[in-house]
Amino acid sequence: MIPFIDLEAQQRRLGPRLEARIRAVLGHGRFILGPEVGELEAELSAFAGCAEAVGVSSGTDALLIALMAEGIGPGDAVFVPAFTFTATAEVVAAAGAEPVFVDVDPGTRTMDAEDLERRVAAVGEAGRLKPRAVIAVDLFGLPADYGILRDIAGRNGMFLLADAAQSFGARQDGRRVGRLAPVTATSFYPTKPLGCYGDGGALLTDDGERAARYRSIRHHGAGADADEVARLGMNGRLDTLQAAVLLAKLEVFEEELAARRRVAAAYDRLLGNAVGLPARPAGAESAWAVYAVLVEDRDRVRRALDEAGIQTRVYYPRPLHLQPAFAAHGEGPGSRPVSEDLCRRILALPMHPYMDEAAVRRVAEAVVKAVRGMARRA
Ligand SMILES: *Cc1c(COP(=O)(O)O)cnc(C)c1O
Repeated sequence: MIPFIDLEAQQRRLGPRLEARIRAVLGHGRFILGPEVGELEAELSAFAGCAEAVGVSSGTDALLIALMAEGIGPGDAVFVPAFTFTATAEVVAAAGAEPVFVDVDPGTRTMDAEDLERRVAAVGEAGRLKPRAVIAVDLFGLPADYGILRDIAGRNGMFLLADAAQSFGARQDGRRVGRLAPVTATSFYPTKPLGCYGDGGALLTDDGERAARYRSIRHHGAGADADEVARLGMNGRLDTLQAAVLLAKLEVFEEELAARRRVAAAYDRLLGNAVGLPARPAGAESAWAVYAVLVEDRDRVRRALDEAGIQTRVYYPRPLHLQPAFAAHGEGPGSRPVSEDLCRRILALPMHPYMDEAAVRRVAEAVVKAVRGMARRA
């Protein structure tokens, strides 16, 4: 069997380092905002090359805290891609604002800048909502097109937030995720490129004033002294135990990113033109959270791979504007055609840093065989 992700292989490699980190927390007993949280924040900001990192309870809470800190709420439009995980849009509604779904680019599968411009103009003309923020998603680990998105956000007076839940460690034009947008939210959900053993996330920024607000909001809006409630906050802290796990994993993270790049390059080479490959825009280096291809007759290809002992996943089977929870914010089928087409054809293949060349070859050969078999039958 070839698993979709192999967290056990990583755990075997980390071995005693991981256990020593966890035991240290059990020893000092400071389970909430213990010393590992601060230590991790320093490591994360050094890694990303940004001034501040704030550990929080999940990627979803990182996004929500960022919106709360800007005072985004009722009457505000927040532009999000239609092709993403529900959390990107869920937090907009949780903050009381309205998500506006933007189509994506068929190659990079990240937010389409032209469609964003059109929808910002349309919201402005309609006058009911104020265009207030853009949440760009670094889908599958590839940074969104921040050069253009920073420009559009700037011209329209909008806050640009990077949903980098899948892309910690990626680069664009020599800069790491964390420095590509004014504020970046990431996730340490176990299957993300840098994952802990539970829920966790972080906010990254160069803005010290914003970082101070994030630290306050994650801690019930705490003010300068412990008894003051300076603002509305939440219980949004990163657990000390999860910070300890992440400190052990950070030691091997750079090597794991390189291993993911090797797996992706081998897939590209072995799959050739049998399927639609992920785009590789100039200057960008993905964190390869997910390696996803486009195939016709996806569900049959998936079944053939399953029979060959190869685990696959579908991210995402439905675009958000067609999900029942968001239907009121969309214009129905056909309104985001690229996202809708990707949902029909996308297929994620096994991808993790401990996949050897033989396993990549077995997957690629099975994919090519399944796709060719389907073409013959058609
Ligand atoms: C995983 C993910 C999130 C949410 O992260 P959690 O840590 O699970 O809350 C948000 N956005 C995207 C694009 C994700 O993939």
